Amino acid sequence: MKNGDVQTASRVTAGVTFAARLAFEDIRHAFGAGVETLRGITLAAEPGEVLCLLGPSGSGKTTLLRVAAGIESQSSGRVLLNDREIAGPSVFLPPEKRSIGLVFQDFALFPHLTILDNVRFGLTALSGDEASREAMIALSRVGLDHYAASYPHVLSGGEQQRVALARALAPRPAVLLMDEPFSGLDSRLKDTVRAETLAILRESRATAIVVTHDAEEAMRMADRIALLKDGELVQVGRAEDLYLAPTNLFVAAFFSELNVFHGRVKAQAVDTPVGKIPVSGSQEGARATVAVRLTGFEVSESEGQIEARILSRRYLGVVELLELAVSGAETPVRARVRAGALSAKARDIWLSLRQSDVLMFETPRESA
Ligand code: ADP
Ligand code: MG
Repeated sequence: MKNGDVQTASRVTAGVTFAARLAFEDIRHAFGAGVETLRGITLAAEPGEVLCLLGPSGSGKTTLLRVAAGIESQSSGRVLLNDREIAGPSVFLPPEKRSIGLVFQDFALFPHLTILDNVRFGLTALSGDEASREAMIALSRVGLDHYAASYPHVLSGGEQQRVALARALAPRPAVLLMDEPFSGLDSRLKDTVRAETLAILRESRATAIVVTHDAEEAMRMADRIALLKDGELVQVGRAEDLYLAPTNLFVAAFFSELNVFHGRVKAQAVDTPVGKIPVSGSQEGARATVAVRLTGFEVSESEGQIEARILSRRYLGVVELLELAVSGAETPVRARVRAGALSAKARDIWLSLRQSDVLMFETPRESA
């Protein structure tokens, strides 16, 4: 993307779609006779909402999008658009009848077609003139109408992504599905294109489901995040719900780097190498897992709660990454501290725990 492009290009800003609600009801899916890829997904994207589907590779994100789009069919459950069944036991609307747009990871522009023709591609239901007009509207929406007659190779990765977005928006879909739409962009471009895409989604008032495996990307974009693991929803909520009140260690570890300690509840507390962590409501003797974010330590050379010896320091700019030997900890404790918080000669230091960065989970029986 050229400097200033985003700011100077004129964009059409009226809403394109009537915001729709897309709902999954107890969706199950398996490839052939293999293990289930989706194991009972119930989830809805509300009208105009940007819902991020987050999860590690292989958790079923793409499969769920393909089920919504009608490229893949579920083995049971229903997909509803505005309470109308579009896929279920008795109905299966083909992809072109669903009013659902798709943007893939690799943009998939046709190199031998002009930008305009790439965007016109999904507008087969319209006459030639109408299709061109709608395609131009979609292109101006993403600020690239001046490239209509050019070919994809002249565009940067970020611009190609916006053309793919224009192509998906041109038929005015009720819902837009985006599968890892930014993973093909280099990291410097990513922030800009992501912000730009979000602005376009807001302006078009489309309901969108955006797939990503990157928690920070989900936090930057989503109204709500649905975290998937092994074909099941683990937690659904706003970014701060998942970050501050994760339902289990998997969720916590997806959103922050953690130090993990195991222990047992004794007198309403769990003893860890970094201190006694109070618990409430857990049974005496129950196994518990304590997770401390890397940002959860204050460091001092003169005072604190826990003694630690610095094993290594990595300067990362704003912060420093420390590896620390702490009595009772089997592996080094890791901490992210403000660069300059410790002098160059610091070796034996003190740690204090920041309670807001401490998370406690009862250890489930199967892993106990
Ligand atoms: P994600 O998008 O979250 O990485 P996918 O939905 O692509 O996950 O895949 C979910 C699971 O289904 C994975 O275990 C993957 O290996 C498997 N899978 C994906 N596509 C196929 C296929 N065409 N045939 C068989 N298994 C598949
Ligand atoms: Mg995928």
